[in-house]
Amino acid sequence: MKTIALVAHDGKKAELLEWVKVHAAFFQDKELVATGTTGRLLGEVLQKPVKCLASGPLGGDQQIGALIAEQQIDWLVFFWDPLSSQPHDPDVKALIRLAVVWNIPVACNKATADFIVHSTLVAQDYQRTVPDFSAHNNRL
Ligand code: PGA
Repeated sequence: MKTIALVAHDGKKAELLEWVKVHAAFFQDKELVATGTTGRLLGEVLQKPVKCLASGPLGGDQQIGALIAEQQIDWLVFFWDPLSSQPHDPDVKALIRLAVVWNIPVACNKATADFIVHSTLVAQDYQRTVPDFSAHNNRL
């Protein structure tokens, strides 16, 4: 659980920031990566460097997806907004899909994020199973 990617849609940014404030101590020794606006706000709240990618609608979600495919993300916190349509909806779906493909823990709401933060597995240096896609890669 060393590198955490965070994304919040505009309608969910306040909720994410409130949640992160509550768990500020947890995040102090973690590497944080985020879409542009989310990352800037997180950096202000946590007073620590956050690697800011492009804004989500401008490709940031896809950049995080690429990092997941490169095994560089241990956990995705993705507070997407179920009550508003997004111009980059295909990217949103693609990001969630890649997290599932690569067996990355994903928290799409505060309750799930709470469960993960409080999981005993976090302190145990949990090694997730990286799926073996060799059969897929060698097909045909
Ligand atoms: P943002 O992007 O952090 O730049 O606002 C988030 C998103 O809408 O995917």
